[in-house]
Amino acid sequence: MPPLRNFATEKSSALAAKGQGRALRTSARGEGAVVERNGKQLISFSCNDYLGLSHHPRVIAAAQEALARYGAGAGASRLVTGNHPLYEELERKLAAWKGCEAALVFGSGYLANLGIIPALAGRGDLILADKLAHACILDGARLSGAKLLRFAHNDVAHLRTLLETDRAAHAHCLIVTDGVFSMDGDVAPVAALAALAREHDAWLMVDDAHGLGVLNGGRGSTSGVEVDVVMGTLSKALGGYGGYVCGSTALIEYLISAARSLVFSTGLPPAAIAAASVAMDIIAEQPELSEKPLHNARLFTKILGLPPAQSAIVPVILGDAARALAASAILEEEGVLVTAIRPPTVPEGTARLRFAFSALHREEDIARVGGIVKREGWVRG
Ligand SMILES: *Cc1c(COP(=O)(O)O)cnc(C)c1O
Repeated sequence: MPPLRNFATEKSSALAAKGQGRALRTSARGEGAVVERNGKQLISFSCNDYLGLSHHPRVIAAAQEALARYGAGAGASRLVTGNHPLYEELERKLAAWKGCEAALVFGSGYLANLGIIPALAGRGDLILADKLAHACILDGARLSGAKLLRFAHNDVAHLRTLLETDRAAHAHCLIVTDGVFSMDGDVAPVAALAALAREHDAWLMVDDAHGLGVLNGGRGSTSGVEVDVVMGTLSKALGGYGGYVCGSTALIEYLISAARSLVFSTGLPPAAIAAASVAMDIIAEQPELSEKPLHNARLFTKILGLPPAQSAIVPVILGDAARALAASAILEEEGVLVTAIRPPTVPEGTARLRFAFSALHREEDIARVGGIVKREGWVRG
């Protein structure tokens, strides 16, 4: 065997031995909260398409029209010839919805964080990130070369201590957090973080990937709070693909020159921009749609006697990876898809089932899945 094969095989085996082996499973998403696997239809509680907009007829029609008129791909980076006219409209809608002066669309949420953070902080600067912040925030922070410190999850007092001890020795300071935590479903204390940032001459950046279209009438976790940098994705409640950032006009103009993941990566396919633009219209026109995922998540937490859900995401923590995998397999037998989330995605000993609720779930589906969780004793109440 050639040496690279040996290396790859050994690495894979080591990960598998730690319960960290992963494999792709072919999954075809249909209309409604349905996923087809191995020819079997499953009700999915593992999609982030919170409003079902990926299959909305108006979204599909907009994408089809853009595809037919403008072709399948952007052809180049936005700074070369990939800056399709459709961007302007989408960015105007995003900025208005987020109450910011301007917006900038990236290839994905991951690419946005990888581009934004190193543009705002570098060597000699300080980044303070929540302990449970999304992997791509940490990747962006590491790439930046700034000093990275983690504050205890949602712990404003700990953040204050770090600002008091470390802020002064650094030129700039960026505080970064998820608005809604992707594996825990709890919400950051955004207003308190913004006040603390102001007090300590720091900037606040909030990743609102799971907030848009779900919290505060769909406006997300930063609604009503002045946040320096609001980023998010077009791939969750908007049902499509791409990332974005909102902020001041000066910030956006700077990022166009400085965010390397924007400069050196091809623009989105025009169909993706058109789809997101219509999805934004639907969210703005139908505020009652954005109420549903949280409503459904709260039906579930009520059935289980858990504290009311704060977002569309509800974790059921099972502890070790094998137990979470077994629970996921039991649900699949019952026709329900809930992916097991294991370390290193979540801290050791906190493997879990992550339930994501959508506007499309029916009450009887939620009651049934809640019943299975109860029957199996996965929640001790
Ligand atoms: C999904 C997610 C991202 C990445 O967004 P993509 O558009 O899927 O690349 C970033 N941050 C958080 C918190 C996420 O949940």
